[in-house]
Amino acid sequence: MHPLDLLFLRAAHDRAAHRRAEPRLVDDLLKEPGTRILVLQGDQVATAGPRVAFLAPDDVAHLAVGAHLFLGEADGVPYLAAVLARTAPEPALGSVPEPGTGWAGLRTLDVPDLDQGLAVEAIALARWHETHTHCPRCGTPTEVAQAGWVRICPEDGSHHFPRTDPAVIMAITDADDRLLLARGPAWGTDRRSVLAGFVEPGESLEQAVVRETAEEVGVVVDPATVEYRGSQPWPFPASLMLGFRARATTTALVRQEDEIAEADWFTRAELGAAIAEGRLSPPGRSSIARALIEEWHGGRVGD
Ligand SMILES: [Zn+2]
Repeated sequence: MHPLDLLFLRAAHDRAAHRRAEPRLVDDLLKEPGTRILVLQGDQVATAGPRVAFLAPDDVAHLAVGAHLFLGEADGVPYLAAVLARTAPEPALGSVPEPGTGWAGLRTLDVPDLDQGLAVEAIALARWHETHTHCPRCGTPTEVAQAGWVRICPEDGSHHFPRTDPAVIMAITDADDRLLLARGPAWGTDRRSVLAGFVEPGESLEQAVVRETAEEVGVVVDPATVEYRGSQPWPFPASLMLGFRARATTTALVRQEDEIAEADWFTRAELGAAIAEGRLSPPGRSSIARALIEEWHGGRVGD
């Protein structure tokens, strides 16, 4: 069930996880002229015109690549990511041979599903490597294995796998079907979104929805109404956003002031008017927050 139309769910490749265990997979693929390589640095991927730039091994041989990661296959073509060190002085920009080459972040990338899926996977995996360089047990620098899908500690042999942090995001409505929207303290004064928060250790998703709503705005949610609507990878840096809707049994708003600057209940007419008059900006088109709001609204908002 994926009722929500979500940008980062688009993918058209097979991760081919069974190949990760092949010895020297990355080295072998770098010798095959048919391998295609996505170049990334931090949150940015190299682009060529309206596509992600998929380069041949010879095209990236001169780049200062920190790590190659195996992303999978599509139509018999193997795909790697070449991760440039964040400190590298953007070598790919001037040296990638195709015209129209540049860099783009995931949030602005408007590309076919194949490119989108590979870019999300590459950036999420690369960011995990960037921040998990040492063994959490003994502090020894770990070594990359399984074509980028495991890090192994040479001291104690422990294996460490890419992490994803679950976060709940929820469209809370009251008995009159008004929607709860709030503003974070660091946001622009017109911005509003649904509530969200990280799942804590030992907690179910449903419990997290109820707890976060109570903490942030003092509203009681009926746990029996918490309904899963869909998920969205959000690799900024490593979240998996799990979308819900749920019904509140109270409406009085008591804000947790360091997290919530403003919070209000909106009818559909009130939300539509606030957006039309420029008093309120909904979340970005690519976000699950926007999808949850539009699902409640029964159609697109802000167009
Ligand atoms: Zn260790």
